[in-house]
Amino acid sequence: MNLFLTRGAAVMLALLAVGRMPCTTAAEPAPPRAEAGQAFDPQPLVSRAERAGLRVFQSRHLVLITDRPPRQGDGLAELPAIFDEAFGVWCGHYGFDPASLAQWRACGCLVVDRETFRAAGLLPATVPEFANGYCDHHRFWLSDQSNPAYRRHLLLHEGVHAFTATLRNLNTPTWYTEGIAEWLATHRLEPTAPRFRHTPLPASPEDVEQLGRIEMIHRLRATQTCPSLEALFSLRPTLHGTISSYAAAWAGVSFLADHPRYARAFATIERGPLDAALTQRLRQQPGWNPAAASRDFDAFTETLDYGYDLSRMVIDWAPGQPVPAAGAVTQVQAERGWQHTGWQVQAGRGYQLQASGRVRVGRLRQASGTLDLESTANGISIDWYRGRPIGRLLAAQWDDHPQDGGRPRFTVLGEGEAITITAAATGPLYVKINNPPANLSDAGGSLAVQIASVSSSSTPEKAESTPRR
Ligand SMILES: [Zn+2]
Repeated sequence: MNLFLTRGAAVMLALLAVGRMPCTTAAEPAPPRAEAGQAFDPQPLVSRAERAGLRVFQSRHLVLITDRPPRQGDGLAELPAIFDEAFGVWCGHYGFDPASLAQWRACGCLVVDRETFRAAGLLPATVPEFANGYCDHHRFWLSDQSNPAYRRHLLLHEGVHAFTATLRNLNTPTWYTEGIAEWLATHRLEPTAPRFRHTPLPASPEDVEQLGRIEMIHRLRATQTCPSLEALFSLRPTLHGTISSYAAAWAGVSFLADHPRYARAFATIERGPLDAALTQRLRQQPGWNPAAASRDFDAFTETLDYGYDLSRMVIDWAPGQPVPAAGAVTQVQAERGWQHTGWQVQAGRGYQLQASGRVRVGRLRQASGTLDLESTANGISIDWYRGRPIGRLLAAQWDDHPQDGGRPRFTVLGEGEAITITAAATGPLYVKINNPPANLSDAGGSLAVQIASVSSSSTPEKAESTPRR
């Protein structure tokens, strides 16, 4: 590699060697420029584009220039208006009054043939050979995409870079730079205006056609390659140029922005300087517990799915009380993810769990009305999730060191109405009712679960104790 390469260019080449990437930002962002955040006049660029016969679409905040041939239904003409709607959401996220930024503009080039843009004077030699996108302050470039949804996403992703670079002088670690761009760009397209609906955690695959980040997190978990929170924080530009690392960066920001334990700290640091010390400031926030944060992030990536609501998935990591000789009882709520029973089990010891009751695990919406789907702890056989019937009671322990070398996770020890387990370690016993996260807002009710130590009691129905944590 040429020693005379700038550091940014060297990083760029390394990125290109890694594989496909949604975009590239300047790896070593320059210090804030004099024009950062100030008026940017795209008119000279528009004039060049028109002289070169390129198509130009404009809205209040975006000039979009493209050499893509007109095609019926390509949706290009509506992109600037969608960009403006997204701009309002970005302003809200960073606490800006949109009225105060009425003059803010960006210029994006949607590129089919780079030579056309070079010849038109719209692709400076200072722009490196980007794979999918590149942003330099108010200007960005993106390669045309065959999928309209991904093209729109990429446009907005680069737009977030332009927004944060010019209005926040962003120079943050990679996990935040790329994660916030992914997070703020993720949307569903509504049929009528306002069409941009910010869906940072998509409700369904149809919301984010071909984006595939949740599926990527599933793949990373399945192949024991999902990063820990610390590994995510350490993402280097030379290592982040893959779809998987963008998915991980998006997951990290999603986790921090919406997890009830971290949302306040994350919002606090986002209102401060968006500089290289961002991660350090996050770690210094009151109450930040690195071990718990790491476990919470692992629990998040393990259970992540469409329709995920972090407020329903908060894990209590308290050690719990030993199961009394007389047995114990706990309730498991249908509308939540993994729940602490309040009780601690002892490594190697046997326990019986006996569940009773029925819960609502979802609702079927039909023309004739809504039908509640009810289940006992054995589950219902008409629908399955992650290899088990929906509605089935699961009992698990958190495993910090899985034998396969993968990230820490819940290990299911037993399932169904009557469960006999052997505790894998001394620690809290967790339960949940198997259900996709998207169903939890329609779920309700609870099951009673009696817990008895096999060696100390064979009559769990006599349990009287209530859990204390
Ligand atoms: Zn990017």
